[in-house]
Amino acid sequence: MDLFEYQGKQYFARFGIPVSPGGVADTVEEAVAQAEAVGYPVVVKAQVQVGGRGKAGGIKLADNAAEVRFHAGSILGMNIKGHIVKRLWIERASDIEQEYYASFTLDRTAKLYLGMLSAKGGVDIEQVAAEDPDAIARLHVNPLDGLAEDACRDWVARAKLDPRANEGVVNILMKLYRCFVEGDADLVEINPLILTPDGRVHALDAKVTLDDSAARNHPEWDAFRGLEQLDERESLARSKGLQYVGLDGDVGIIANGAGLAMSTCDTVNQVGGKPANFLDIGGGASADVVTSALEVINTDPNVKVIFINIFGGVTRCDEVARGIIEATRRVQLRSPLIIRLDGTNAREGHAILAENASDRLIIAPTMLEAANRAVAIAAGG
Ligand code: GDP
Ligand code: MN
Repeated sequence: MDLFEYQGKQYFARFGIPVSPGGVADTVEEAVAQAEAVGYPVVVKAQVQVGGRGKAGGIKLADNAAEVRFHAGSILGMNIKGHIVKRLWIERASDIEQEYYASFTLDRTAKLYLGMLSAKGGVDIEQVAAEDPDAIARLHVNPLDGLAEDACRDWVARAKLDPRANEGVVNILMKLYRCFVEGDADLVEINPLILTPDGRVHALDAKVTLDDSAARNHPEWDAFRGLEQLDERESLARSKGLQYVGLDGDVGIIANGAGLAMSTCDTVNQVGGKPANFLDIGGGASADVVTSALEVINTDPNVKVIFINIFGGVTRCDEVARGIIEATRRVQLRSPLIIRLDGTNAREGHAILAENASDRLIIAPTMLEAANRAVAIAAGG
């Protein structure tokens, strides 16, 4: 089981590894509240189980509530390499003088533990390994012997860090080793492990993979499950290449583009309805894609109506309309459709839909009207 960064940091903290104070937030308002509690400046961090969040725009510094609101708003719902951001971690920002890399993992071929430490942290370690392999100091540890402090000290010396960091790094590595072994992890990684201008060393990121075969010895791991486990609909959607997030309501939503999908959810909320999901089918809206989207939503027993909101750009509305009609022939739908279609060739698109209109396929001229109709149907009207 892979942990989110905030969970990894909780795990680290249990073994005494220093991390920054912070808290999780699932909404913009929660993010602001956490920031106020932690104290500015803060870092707003996307919680997704994929690396390179910084480069993808999922990590931002904020000096005040307005900046937190802005960054939290743009990062929540963001798609980072196929992972939708549902949760943020807000922590006190650190001043960074140096960024290092540290990890323990299993070397299965050698049947030993492998520690890696590098003065070149904060970047992709695979890249360092490829371009400058000597920049990584390695240490094999025999599980039977454990990690002795002297061996650890030699290892840190080989990594040629800033000498001011050595003591703090030795201390953290000894704890990280315990976290790895006693914590039954397959991988513990800190990237970056930082040295601050005032000479302190601490973990700014956390990647922890727990060994599932040890789960029965760790009832406390149950708390880590949940968000990480996708529901059935989400895994089905992901297997079909759709961006889907399951929600609790009864209005199924299909839109093209993450922005439009978000505003569709908002509009449904505004008129008193509850979205059953967020589903972004991406740029196009071919019969295949719409079919997949309808199939996924069809598996949700709570859905009473499906609101399709498409803005035709490169994919013209007439093509989209044909795709939707074709999809409705392929999928035995349980719920009626409300369709709002606008953009390039909207008139032609509407004409195609109109030929197939019924009380199971309703065309609405605007997003607001579509939302109202959908919510009325969901409410049984
Ligand atoms: P990743 O990109 O997914 O590995 O996310 P990280 O948590 O490692 O953050 C990426 C980068 O953001 C770090 O290497 C830092 O350069 C920067 N960063 C993260 N937290 C802070 C912070 O508290 N202060 C400053 N100045 N930069 C930060
Ligand atoms: Mn990182």
